[in-house]
Amino acid sequence: MTDRYASFVRSGAGRALVKRLGLPDPPRLRRYAVGDPLLPGPVLLGAADGSRLAAQVARLLRDAGVEVDDAGVEVDDAGVEGGDAPTGSAPDPATGQPPRRGALVYDATGITDSTGLRQLYDFFHPQARSVLPSGRVIVLGTPPAGCGSPREATAQRSLEGLVRSIGKEFGRGVTAQLVYVTPDGDAGTATSLEATLRFLLSGRSAYVSGQVVRVGTGTATAPADWNRPLAGQVVLVTGAARGIGAAVARVLARDGAQVVALDVPAAGDALAAVVNEIGGTAVQLDLTGADAPARLADHLADRHSRVDVVVHNAGITRDRTLGRMDADRWDAVLDVNLSSQERINDVLLERELIPEGGRLVAVSSIAGIAGNRGQTNYATSKAGVIGLVDALAPALAGRGISVNAVAPGFIETRLTARVPLVIREAGRRMNSMAQGGLPVDVAETIGWLAWPASGAVSGNVVRVCGQSLLGA
Ligand code: NAD
Repeated sequence: MTDRYASFVRSGAGRALVKRLGLPDPPRLRRYAVGDPLLPGPVLLGAADGSRLAAQVARLLRDAGVEVDDAGVEVDDAGVEGGDAPTGSAPDPATGQPPRRGALVYDATGITDSTGLRQLYDFFHPQARSVLPSGRVIVLGTPPAGCGSPREATAQRSLEGLVRSIGKEFGRGVTAQLVYVTPDGDAGTATSLEATLRFLLSGRSAYVSGQVVRVGTGTATAPADWNRPLAGQVVLVTGAARGIGAAVARVLARDGAQVVALDVPAAGDALAAVVNEIGGTAVQLDLTGADAPARLADHLADRHSRVDVVVHNAGITRDRTLGRMDADRWDAVLDVNLSSQERINDVLLERELIPEGGRLVAVSSIAGIAGNRGQTNYATSKAGVIGLVDALAPALAGRGISVNAVAPGFIETRLTARVPLVIREAGRRMNSMAQGGLPVDVAETIGWLAWPASGAVSGNVVRVCGQSLLGA
């Protein structure tokens, strides 16, 4: 549905009013189109003394066609020797302003003590106004659990506060993320770091901000063409007839996947329209049916002999406060949103239809993180999805299968169009982007987690919520 307020504030009269009254000012977000450059301008790359990733990052950014200013730090494979003021912060002599940046990328892996955090201020302070609209801020760190000392773990954990605050402060569609990269990396780590940076820098991550992504180890394969990162993959998308699921089917097909789109028989016409558009195949099946997992597994085995990616998107709401909720509402939501996922995973894994390099991506919700009045059933099911990721990711690592979830915030769909007006407006504005997300924003995030190149990204729950204040 349309966001009339956003359309109004982008008009001439609206702009003046927003400025005068200090009203929320939803920016136009930069969204991905095939062939787009990664960024609208050059990257300023900085690094703390002794950091370990800057040389690799400089190389992969340049290979991706990005202009990189490495800020005067001595970036080489032996690590970083920095400490001087970044040359990139020198004002442009013509304008007196710092040069405009598509992104600021800072390798903070060298910070081993809280006193070293001052290097963050020294790098970011002069750049605070230099980032272009819909630009990006990315900080690279070491996961606290992988640090060599309590002081290093403390300093690395501090990075979260910086990144989440920058996400709230910079505005104009600029996003900020923290990427923790394991210090015990393998070849998969390098490939998945590249995949993650390509996602986070591009317009694919328009509505993802304030997130912490962990890159570990695992089976990860770079694509021949980063414009078709899912080429040759067989993908199942549940709940694909409309809303977020239909957007997932479209985005994954655009990125080269063969899509098997599933929905209930009652949604057959809408499902047929989606598969006709993308050249996929349709499965009409109610996931809650007793024989649904076996029928689905038979279909995938007969037609494709495997399924590389399973996207558990189908979901329902049956809202009531707990005291007024009948057992049927509880049961229906738990069954569709959680138990059916477990039953399908079990059968597909038992029959070894998900090969090495496979991906499970589930759709949770920020309600599963923060809870929500009137949604005890829904929030229970969506928190369960996060539990499923926590439990299955380590259990399936040995089989080379990654398990992740996305947690959407307020996304403009039929589901949110039914929300009462005042709550709907609050949901739209109470985030760093001051607007609701689009189904395509969730779809792009699922797509990245599904890429063969993302295998070392497992056990993550990535919110697609414009950095919502709910569940913050
Ligand atoms: P939607 O209602 O538009 O689409 C859900 C689809 O799932 C429908 O096509 C429906 O027919 C299908 N489905 C439902 N029960 C099924 C069953 N038993 N078997 C097979 N298919 C079934 O919803 P949406 O907004 O696109 O949401 C998609 C997912 O995203 C859901 O899991 C939802 O909980 C989650 N989510 C949405 C939002 C949002 O703001 N829209 C926010 C957070 C999470």
